[in-house]
Amino acid sequence: MDEIVEVACPSCGEPIVLALDPSAGSEQEYVEDCPVCCRPALHRVRFDREGRASVDSRAE
Ligand SMILES: [Zn+2]
Repeated sequence: MDEIVEVACPSCGEPIVLALDPSAGSEQEYVEDCPVCCRPALHRVRFDREGRASVDSRAE
């Protein structure tokens, strides 16, 4: 089951919804283009033991 998290775009600050797959590992990186400003952002995702995601986003 995908986990849905909302993060702020590091370039424009608009919310971005990410669909994460916790089964793909406890640390993951996603590069996604912001749907608002179209700039790529790197989202570094970490899952804790309860499966909660924390996301660190930065501009690429
Ligand atoms: Zn943006």
